[in-house]
Parts: sequence; C-alpha cells; structure tokens
Amino acid sequence: MKCLQCGGKMTVRHETRRAYAGLEGVIIEGVQVRHCPECGEEELSYSNVEQLHAQLALQLARKEAALTPREIRFLRTWLGLSSTDLAKRMGVAKETVSRWERLDKPLSMGATAERLLRLMAVHEQPVEEYPLEQLEHVATSKPAPLRVRLKPRKQGWTAEV
Ligand SMILES: [Zn+2]
Repeated sequence: MKCLQCGGKMTVRHETRRAYAGLEGVIIEGVQVRHCPECGEEELSYSNVEQLHAQLALQLARKEAALTPREIRFLRTWLGLSSTDLAKRMGVAKETVSRWERLDKPLSMGATAERLLRLMAVHEQPVEEYPLEQLEHVATSKPAPLRVRLKPRKQGWTAEV
C-alpha cells in the first residue's frame, strides 16, 4: 500500500482508539492504522463500519443515564435525519433539537423525547433483545457518556459495557 500523499510505503498496525466519533466513553479495538513514515500521513479504517455504528446505536439506546449532546447527535445522524427531520418527528422546533445537541449548556431532552429517539434507533435494526421494561429506567439520571469497548469479532462487532 502506497501513501497517497507522497508515494512512500505505508506500514500497517492495529490499534485501540478512544473517543470514537467524539463520544468520549467509546473505545474501539482493532482499528487498522496505515502510517507513512515518510510524510507522517495516517489513515484509519474500521472493519464493517455499518455494523459498528449499529452496535453503538444499540448500546446508546440501552444505556441508563440520559444521553449526552454528542450521543443525541450520533443517534440522529445515524438515523439519517437532519435537525429539521427530527424536530418534525418529535413535534418540536428545529431550534430545540439544536439546543439538545449544544455542547455548552445543552437543553435537557426530557425522558419522553429520549425514549422516542431510542425507540427509533432500536426500530432501525433487528434486535432480539430490547425489553420494553428497560425503558422505564432510561434517562432517569443525569446525562453521562456511554462507556463501552467495541471489539471486532468474526460474527461482527461485540460490545463490552
Ligand atoms: Zn507519505
């Protein structure tokens, strides 16, 4: 594999990376890192990205603490929705969605809207196990980032919370 920047020969290694997609508690194992010793260029590649994102979305939907602004944004974009789209589905103003996702002094989403967002995320994928009783316990405590370690396995990405 040659470097696209300078044509140098790239080395390949596998690393564990933190704060995937800006989600501070998310650790991903087995990330392929191609590095060019000549110019310092670095390329990351994740195997089976679609399933990685689906696994992450599921873990977010299941976590107990309220979602953080970055997590809300991750789920919204994973669902392929613009702020306007999400606002329409939730019956809120577009500005409200922006305020949920604002990093500085975000507006609390509230348990009802959170449950809806989480259900939308769960609905997008075949999930054997998302007990509805679990919903009683979600978003009942202050926002805290999901802490999860995702590992690439033959059968797909597995999560260790
Ligand atoms: Zn290079």
